[in-house]
Amino acid sequence: MTADPDCLFCKIVSGAIPSNRVYEDGDVIAFRDINPGAPTHILVVPRAHIVSIAEATEADAPLIAKLLLTASQIAASEHVDQRGYRLVINTGKDGGQSVFHLHVHLLAGRALAWPPG
Ligand code: 5GP
Ligand code: ZN
Repeated sequence: MTADPDCLFCKIVSGAIPSNRVYEDGDVIAFRDINPGAPTHILVVPRAHIVSIAEATEADAPLIAKLLLTASQIAASEHVDQRGYRLVINTGKDGGQSVFHLHVHLLAGRALAWPPG
């Protein structure tokens, strides 16, 4: 889907709202979370506006694979891959999603509790 003019992450993708980018290519961007929940907290986001993983279709499968692989590559470049990390996709109201543009959280830098709250 094309950019949603009311979507925060579409505005970050376009550069209308600044962010601390750690990676970008033609399909995805990654930037540091403004309110980090761990010492390393990066959001990996498709440039395309997809509301959530629940809205993704078969046609989005390569892009979703790329989101996960990019998160893994950023974990390595941030040097958190040896100690470990967590990838999270909050989905919908009970899932705690607050920005309705698909994103993968990369959390690392401390021991993370399980199950999450
Ligand atoms: P969600 O709750 O939808 O899974 O995750 C949204 C994330 O976006 C939250 O962790 C929140 O801190 C982050 N966030 C919200 N607004 C901004 C912003 O303007 N800039 C950045 N870098 N992160 C944001
Ligand atoms: Zn969007």
